[in-house]
Amino acid sequence: MHNIDIEVVEMSLDVIKYAIGRVTNADPKLGYPKSEAELDELAGETITAKGIGGENAFKIFRDVLLESSVSIDHPRHLAFVPASPTRAGIMFDLVTAASSIHGAYWMEGAGGIWAENQAMKYLVSLTGLPKGAFGVFTSGGTTANLSAIVAARGAWRERDPKHERTRGLIITSDGAHSSVKSMANVIDADIICVETDGRFTAAHLEAQLSALTPEDRARVFAIIATGGTTNAGIIDDLDGVSKIALREGIWLHIDAAYGGGALAAPSVRHLFRGIENADSVTIDPHKWFFSPYDCGAVIYRDPALAKRVHTQGAAYLEIATGEASGFNPADYQIQLTRRLRGLPLWFSLAMHGTDRYTEAIERGIELARIAGRMITSAPHVELVREPSLSCVLFRRKGWKPEDYSSWTHRNHKSGYALVTPTKSRANGRYETVARFCFINPDTTEQDIRGILATME
Ligand SMILES: *Cc1c(COP(=O)(O)O)cnc(C)c1O
Repeated sequence: MHNIDIEVVEMSLDVIKYAIGRVTNADPKLGYPKSEAELDELAGETITAKGIGGENAFKIFRDVLLESSVSIDHPRHLAFVPASPTRAGIMFDLVTAASSIHGAYWMEGAGGIWAENQAMKYLVSLTGLPKGAFGVFTSGGTTANLSAIVAARGAWRERDPKHERTRGLIITSDGAHSSVKSMANVIDADIICVETDGRFTAAHLEAQLSALTPEDRARVFAIIATGGTTNAGIIDDLDGVSKIALREGIWLHIDAAYGGGALAAPSVRHLFRGIENADSVTIDPHKWFFSPYDCGAVIYRDPALAKRVHTQGAAYLEIATGEASGFNPADYQIQLTRRLRGLPLWFSLAMHGTDRYTEAIERGIELARIAGRMITSAPHVELVREPSLSCVLFRRKGWKPEDYSSWTHRNHKSGYALVTPTKSRANGRYETVARFCFINPDTTEQDIRGILATME
């Protein structure tokens, strides 16, 4: 199985041919899920004692399984947070896998880690965090958030040994991403999600802090604000919130997993003022920095602090973790063995230059504004709120929640588009509405017009 034989050579050619075809195809099939029973039937037994052969397995993947998976980079995939990895990034993902580099320790992965760090310097520079701030690539925003809050709690406990046995408390808002609550659960901390109208402001935070009992106030180890809510693209009052966090001496984490890309967009960069005061920031390059899955990033104002919390100690690792060993990504997040998931981003940034990134990100924001204007001028739909970043929430006049879900399935099943509903809160009431999230710069105005026409 580890020999280079004729089957491996032939398969390599087939795989590369497929990869080239896919990466140069600007119009991939959207894909629609079949049931597990249907896939069992169509694909048959694939794991057998003697193997079914590479050619067969690949055929099953290409002809059966692929069609049952959504191409998230389809230009009319505007659901959830879509993706649009650059061709260069995808190609370099293949190279990354082929290169077999261990990305945890400089001792083994120096060259690759150096390249990842070049890409990281660019991300850090966008935040405006002071000299010394740095970060690492993670598997996504969820693990970046987890790594950041573990560091925050570690710093809080380091400051006062009494905190060792105190259950921590996080303050965030109802606009925070689900992963924030989920990761608070993972570390067994309490969390307060302050109710807002979508945007978490200094006034909300001030009111929440003063409502706490002295015991609870002493348990607060982190404030988490969002730099672009996933649902509506709303940027919290980062400046106001950060000033309170500074005054109170509480760790501020800013979750910009989705919105972080907009730090590179001059038209909206001012909305992030205050992010430079954060203690940690999450950005997901696999969202708005056009990196293939999976690639998140966590950045720390004081990486040394995160390192004290995250470094794993083991006899067999000592030779790699010593002081003189160089930059070890394993020391700054929860994962030990890791692929060099920042390498595709590095290659793509190096190839294209950062200006092209700015243009592609600005295009997403522009598409949201264009969609907003089309919605305003069409009789059957109306905006729920002004587009923010690349998110657009709108309603189809007269529709009930079930109308939105059958519309989603109709468009998805026909292979035309994947656009999903969400809920929007106004005056304490939740309403089902439609949502666009633009990432792919190849989405066209005609695509938007066509999708709106499916709601007539
Ligand atoms: C997407 C998102 C996350 C979760 O990131 P994953 O990469 O899916 O783990 C966290 N926070 C925000 C604001 C997000 O948009």
